[in-house]
Amino acid sequence: MIIAGGGASGLIAAIAAARNGAAVRVIEKTESCGKKLSMTGNGKCNLANLKVSSEDYNADARGRMKLWLKEFGVNEVTEFFSSLGLVIVSEDGYLYPISGQASSVVSVLMGECLRLGVEFVFGEQVKRVIKNDDGFFTVKTDKNEYGAKAVILAMGGLAGPKSTGSTGDGYYICEQLGLSKKDTFPALVPLLSSDETLPSKSGVRAIARVTFMIGDGEIAKEYGEVQITEKGISGIPVMQASGMVAEHLAKGRPITASIDFFPGYSDGEFDALVKRLMSLSDDRKLGDLLDGFCNSNINEMILTRMKMSAGMKIKNVGPSMLACILYKYRDVRIDISRTDDYKKAQVTRGGISLGDLTDTLEAKNAKGVFVVGELCDVDGRCGGYNLQWAWTSGYIAGEAASSL
Ligand SMILES: Cc1cc2nc3c(=O)[nH]c(=O)nc-3n(C[C@H](O)[C@H](O)[C@H](O)COP(=O)(O)OP(=O)(O)OC[C@H]3O[C@@H](n4cnc5c(N)ncnc54)[C@H](O)[C@@H]3O)c2cc1C
Repeated sequence: MIIAGGGASGLIAAIAAARNGAAVRVIEKTESCGKKLSMTGNGKCNLANLKVSSEDYNADARGRMKLWLKEFGVNEVTEFFSSLGLVIVSEDGYLYPISGQASSVVSVLMGECLRLGVEFVFGEQVKRVIKNDDGFFTVKTDKNEYGAKAVILAMGGLAGPKSTGSTGDGYYICEQLGLSKKDTFPALVPLLSSDETLPSKSGVRAIARVTFMIGDGEIAKEYGEVQITEKGISGIPVMQASGMVAEHLAKGRPITASIDFFPGYSDGEFDALVKRLMSLSDDRKLGDLLDGFCNSNINEMILTRMKMSAGMKIKNVGPSMLACILYKYRDVRIDISRTDDYKKAQVTRGGISLGDLTDTLEAKNAKGVFVVGELCDVDGRCGGYNLQWAWTSGYIAGEAASSL
């Protein structure tokens, strides 16, 4: 069997197949395996999540994800890694190697591959997969040709720095084999804005609720730590919605983010807070009052937008204008112009259509070819869900391909 790509999904596929008795060769374009895996989770590798469910994935994948997670879900992932000697810890359901090092995950996977006799070819780029008349495959790289009874395409998508090997080669190879591809977009990625009032200084980090809207219609709502810089917005709540935002932007639909900097307050509690602050109104400066209320860079942004000056005396601002300023903090609007590039993204939205694949990830019209990992039209939320898919799809395909 040949596995094209030695990332997360390729390595687990190699182990599943080799444990089943297959002779496995992994062809990896770069000079080592698991380059992207080593940088996941800020170098700590959030390898799965105890709370995983099909709802954590893109709408088109959810139906079949139930079945796949039943077959190789989070319990199977933890058992699998335990069998490799990796000690896993949970931080509120987010699973990490206890070492705190993503490189531990790569090490145990590589160790098991070598123990099982998996052969590695490094520095060769798979260019083409051809099905021969005898049912076997010829896998052509930029340097050699190899024969195989089954081929697993585990070449990843387009997200992450190019040095990780993520250059989208797999899409072209799949298309040559007659598989269809859904348009791809960067996902789990910062969103950019050309709004000139965004804070130009050090930027802002704040716990907030972000609602994404097309006109007045809400398309997503997320909560968590938001980062605002002069380029746009990022942070987990923004990244979570970014794939959906990218799809809408590509269809020419304008997207606005509405940020509530007081997400823990009910309307009544916020009214009471505003009332209390207004009762303090005296001959102090507006900027001093606001600096006790919210982040100073946000204050500056709101005052700039309202053409107000921090040096104004509160008594000169007037109660209705002061109330108007304070209520703005619950609905700070930022127009999104585009997503950041693939190299800043953690995953690719879109990819090889699941409709062209069987339940074991085998191509329906090219029997013996399997497609796994990020190359498929599957993307998950931030929090271990994308690696879960890499493990799930790689394991299922590895086992199935070795049984052919
Ligand atoms: C910065 C960052 C942080 C992330 N953190 C997390 C996290 O904490 N938790 C999580 O769940 N997900 C995380 N992800 C997402 C996760 O890394 C991916 O979903 C996962 O690695 C996809 O696995 P894969 O096997 O499909 O592809 P990859 O891991 O990208 O592996 C593909 C491999 O194929 C090789 N290849 C490509 N083309 C060819 C070719 N033509 N011939 C031969 N080899 C080829 C590549 O060099 C690469 O080694 C993160 C992503 C990034 C970029």
